[in-house]
Amino acid sequence: MSTPATESIIIVGGGHAAAQLCAGLSQAGLGARTILICEEPLLPYHRPPLSKAFLKAAEEQPMPHRPSDWYEQAGIQVIAGDSVVAIDRNARRVRLKSGSELAWHRLVLATGTRARTLPALEAPLSNVTSLRHAADAERLRALLAGAQRVVILGGGFIGLEIAATAHAQGKQVTVLEAAPRLMGRAASAELSEHVLNSHRTNGMDIRTDATADAFEIQDGKVTAVVTAGGERLPLDVLVVGIGAVPETALAEAAGLTCSDGIIVDAHMRSSDADILAIGDCTRFDEAYTGRQLRLESVQNANDQAKTACATLTGTPAAHKALPWFWSEQGGLRLQMAGLPPAPGTDDQLIVRRQGAKPESFSLFHYVNGVLVCVESVNAPLDHVTSRKLLELGVSPAPETVVDASVALKSLIPVAA
Ligand code: FAD
Repeated sequence: MSTPATESIIIVGGGHAAAQLCAGLSQAGLGARTILICEEPLLPYHRPPLSKAFLKAAEEQPMPHRPSDWYEQAGIQVIAGDSVVAIDRNARRVRLKSGSELAWHRLVLATGTRARTLPALEAPLSNVTSLRHAADAERLRALLAGAQRVVILGGGFIGLEIAATAHAQGKQVTVLEAAPRLMGRAASAELSEHVLNSHRTNGMDIRTDATADAFEIQDGKVTAVVTAGGERLPLDVLVVGIGAVPETALAEAAGLTCSDGIIVDAHMRSSDADILAIGDCTRFDEAYTGRQLRLESVQNANDQAKTACATLTGTPAAHKALPWFWSEQGGLRLQMAGLPPAPGTDDQLIVRRQGAKPESFSLFHYVNGVLVCVESVNAPLDHVTSRKLLELGVSPAPETVVDASVALKSLIPVAA
């Protein structure tokens, strides 16, 4: 299914996946047939800084992947600040919120996710926010500037990054995580435990198995959260960081197969072969684990965009990309290569320490004697090398990786 140079490709969404696909299509000479439509009124920008550097300094601006003249030179038409509201598969057209209609030969959905909300907080409340887009980050930054007491619902990556940033700014931070451990979906129990202890040692109030039962609301503001245990937590800012849901409404309305994500095959094709989907909005068969997954990461968005580009340019290659992820939480730089084994399935866990530094180590997870995942804490070199080992399918012996005097790099086969 290659796309002849005369046919148009419409990309719906302007996040990491869309930006990477634009780069690939431009390189393949298809820029001039590409239209990108994004509801945010910005060129595609880097989302990870929004919960990190962006919150720290008032002068920080969203960081675009590429400047506007790059899109002009590539011939890519960017329609920012408008959204696609309907897909007509028979007529091969999309309808925009602004009312216009555009024709496509190939359509790519890169619609990402939206922040999960709580029914009790759906009415506009001036001191409550979630964090997904640059506009949310601007709002949160302004709210934090005038706040002292910050309550964060959700102990996932984004909630904890915001918590660490606010704590470093001298705010009194409380995190309520409903599950028994932090970052439960994406980190091993051992890493969760380390992060919890580290944040608590640094003075953050982080509670697990803790839920908000009620919200006290006055004059359009939440003034306190009441926990399930009956404790009242007065607050100035409430951040809702309880995860994200895939943006599949368009795909569903168009009759594409969806199940907590747009289902795609190994070439990023949806149930309609002329409509592809990439990034956070997809669910796919992940090649390393053999599990059907939805991943929310820059790596996944970029790698799926590359696979989609190969499909669109007539050089299809089945998707296989090692999942990896990072998070920065105050003094903790977390980097994961591979996916942590499902609880109870890792038969061996090796801790590789960097000398005597307690805050710098890597967790090597083995399943049936095979290395499947490495989680590094303040050990970037371990992370980069482990990624290479996992991609190559090299599984070093546990007794080798535990020995920090053995350079991991030396375990990469010379031919690689
Ligand atoms: P997105 O980047 O979410 O982009 C989707 C875009 O599509 C949005 O702009 C949306 O407005 C637009 N859109 C949706 N529907 C329509 C429509 N109908 N019409 C037009 N446009 C539409 N990942 C990491 O790997 N490391 C990190 O440290 C990290 N930190 C993060 C911090 C924050 C605050 C957030 C929010 C995410 C973070 N992530 C991180 C996750 C990462 O940013 C996402 O995995 C990545 O952005 C996914 O890219 P995407 O293109 O699939 O979707």
